[in-house]
Amino acid sequence: MSTVGAPRVELYDTTLRDGAQRADLSYTVEDRLRILHRLDQVGFPFVEGGWPGANPRDSEFFRLATKETLEHSTLVAFGMTRRAGEAASDSQALRDLLDAGTEFVCLVGKAWDLHVTEALRTDLDEGVAMVRDSVVFLQEQGRRVFFDAEHFFDGYVSDGSFAMRVLAAAEEAGAERLVLCDTNGGMLPFDIARIVGEVKGRAGVPLGIHVHNDAGCAVANSLVAVDAGVFQVQGTINGYGERTGNADLIPIAADLMLKMGVTDALPDGAVEHLTELAHYVAEVANVAPDSHQPYAGRFAFTHKAGLHTSGVARVTRAYEHIPPETVGNRRGVVASDYGGGATVRMKAEELGLELPADAVPRVVDDLKAREAQGYAFDVADASLELLMRGASGWRQPFFEVESYRVHVEQRTAADEPLAEATVKVVTKGTRHIESAEGHGPVGALDNALRKALTNDYPELAHMSLEDYRVRVLGEQGGTGAVVRVLIDTSNGEREWTTVGVSENIIEASWEALTDAYLYGLLHPREASED
Ligand SMILES: [Zn+2]
Repeated sequence: MSTVGAPRVELYDTTLRDGAQRADLSYTVEDRLRILHRLDQVGFPFVEGGWPGANPRDSEFFRLATKETLEHSTLVAFGMTRRAGEAASDSQALRDLLDAGTEFVCLVGKAWDLHVTEALRTDLDEGVAMVRDSVVFLQEQGRRVFFDAEHFFDGYVSDGSFAMRVLAAAEEAGAERLVLCDTNGGMLPFDIARIVGEVKGRAGVPLGIHVHNDAGCAVANSLVAVDAGVFQVQGTINGYGERTGNADLIPIAADLMLKMGVTDALPDGAVEHLTELAHYVAEVANVAPDSHQPYAGRFAFTHKAGLHTSGVARVTRAYEHIPPETVGNRRGVVASDYGGGATVRMKAEELGLELPADAVPRVVDDLKAREAQGYAFDVADASLELLMRGASGWRQPFFEVESYRVHVEQRTAADEPLAEATVKVVTKGTRHIESAEGHGPVGALDNALRKALTNDYPELAHMSLEDYRVRVLGEQGGTGAVVRVLIDTSNGEREWTTVGVSENIIEASWEALTDAYLYGLLHPREASED
């Protein structure tokens, strides 16, 4: 599949340091320790934990992380060179790096003449000396050093001889990797291939690559760099990072191992854990997973068009670049009016449902009718499952709604409006009437329904509404404007989506809400109560 033979590649994860630069992301120290252990379990050789001294959380992390036992990963601390005009032994930045207590450090230094003269306001000779002295000092203190040449590619284009002097100084001083960084992320694969090729012949130690995704090429740039001879690939899980992010190690690891013959980039069996890893890190970082992420996205192997899905049912290889199980993902089929009976049968199989043959046409008709009304079952698997079960004759045994009511009141203009809901439901033969307040009508209904059901179903305590989305669909079939409500619910183990459609937003929300509870009761947590 590729011209590459079987180079060895060293993966270097910086989710905890560069990944934390993402605008809407912040880890606690505990989050970081969890991610570190997961990366170690999967088998990433190097994990950069943070920038000690840059903020107290990073220093605290290293204090704790250096006491942890790791099986596969080596922890690395990241830091800057000494300042211009300062002795390395006086550098607070280097002291902080030593205080982290790791054997390996990644030192970043400027390789772009513009940054030396304009940002540091010093001359190029001093720029080179800052790198050399810092590496020498760290070595003397018993550290093993990787050197990140910041803005290397822009620097190489601007003043190649200076950029190369910086690399040579780091190498002579004892750096074990020279990592070429596209810090601004603007390079294209052709630039990377050419420049890495030129540098490769002049470096005596293994090269690395560290790229950002501003031109949309971070994964491609990392792969062409490997093709051109770099050994270490730096990136982050899910591509987290500043602006448009860093190179995403999920597709990089999969591409290397499954398509470029670098079968030892991670330990045996690790590639099957990539989907789980991507989701785990998103969960801990509290970032919504990208459903369309290559390899790991929830829809990465989901087909929509009817022609495709009947084709997939026959020969999966015809429409899939790899079998989804290879990376721990699964095949999905979007149930929609594009697909016919084949789609419905596959979807039922995916959901683990025994769908009687005579139920299939009923489901197809029902789906078509409801999608015409505005339902979106392709994003609401949980409601789809309930619909399929209903078409097979299943009746839910959990609760029966007698009525619900909600009103919103604002007493004075200065008050926050308050919603209050009352629900009447029957569970296991007992009638419950419960009222509850909430900040909005859906919150109030959720609280009241939860109160009414919790007595008989204590496991609902683990369920929480994660997201609520409303879309106005406009006029549908001669009626007034219709709204669609999607609700994401989690029980801490899995997440599911339900849908409701109505001209009335409360009714649409109630439909999605009761589906969310039903699905939660149908699929309780596996973990024992704690
Ligand atoms: Zn970076």
